[in-house]
Amino acid sequence: GGQRDRWVFHQGAFVRAGEVALGPGTQGLHYGTGVFEGIRSFAAASGNGEALIFKAREHFERLRASCRLLRLDLPHDTDELVDIARELLRRNQLFGDSYLRPVVHKLALEPGTPFGVRLRGVSTAVTILALPMGDYGNPEGIRCGVSSWRRVPDSALPARAKITGAYANNALAVDEATAAGYDDAILLNQRGTVAEASTANVFVVHAGRVATPGPDSDILPGLTRAAVTRLLADVAGVAVAERDVPRSELLTADEVFLTGTGCGVVPVVEIDGRQVGEGRPGPVTTWVREAYGRATRGADPRYRHWNTPVGGA
Ligand code: PMP
Repeated sequence: GGQRDRWVFHQGAFVRAGEVALGPGTQGLHYGTGVFEGIRSFAAASGNGEALIFKAREHFERLRASCRLLRLDLPHDTDELVDIARELLRRNQLFGDSYLRPVVHKLALEPGTPFGVRLRGVSTAVTILALPMGDYGNPEGIRCGVSSWRRVPDSALPARAKITGAYANNALAVDEATAAGYDDAILLNQRGTVAEASTANVFVVHAGRVATPGPDSDILPGLTRAAVTRLLADVAGVAVAERDVPRSELLTADEVFLTGTGCGVVPVVEIDGRQVGEGRPGPVTTWVREAYGRATRGADPRYRHWNTPVGGA
């Protein structure tokens, strides 16, 4: 089977991807009025054939919060959404490393609703896709450019809500960075301090101290960011400072790394043409990457509550 034969969850039922049809009037397409999540599932380290969804409940709870902001009706509770995700992986036989993409968006004007930009009087579509995805974070480290596009401020379009339309901001920044030969962009906020990378949070390490931009930095407070903060505190005894990170710190840090569901923990070895630290992944980054890798695959008994198993049989 090809892409069209994959199972997706769409409007309350499991259907083949090729059966999903969206009309040309789809509101989320016109106005970017949708929200989404990115969730990873990993082959269990035990080798028992199970897949483990990482922080499944937290992702669906964040999705629900995003939906509230845009007045999107999410007709499934968190337990149901987790069950749907598990069923979707089973139907697609995805017991290796994979990616789940829930997207909830404005669909069509309800009868009597006048044409135009609005949140009320518009129906909602709920779709969840699942696809195989290996590690896409480069363990050797990546090169980043600080974007000339600033992060959209929380007062205009909150990054914390994962709004589909807001990602045009991220796409502009990625496009600029890749055109300049970089792997990814780091965006500053309107205050000129570090916000985040295109789809990941930023951490800086200086003399063994670890910091990351705080919740008022126009960031998505990532679930990977929270997991890494937890691992550093519990296991390594390192408290991560959540504070403003000036641009100059990116260029003087011993280590910089990114965290995100898609990429995991990724070392940044060059920023704006300057080597970060020794120009290779540093000890804190390497430790965090390994600790996170173990936790996501169920190899650390302290963090089993982060893993939702999906049986192969
Ligand atoms: N910031 C942005 C803009 C993102 O899209 C993501 C990816 N969801 C992140 C940060 C990292 O968040 P998380 O660790 O929850 O994936």
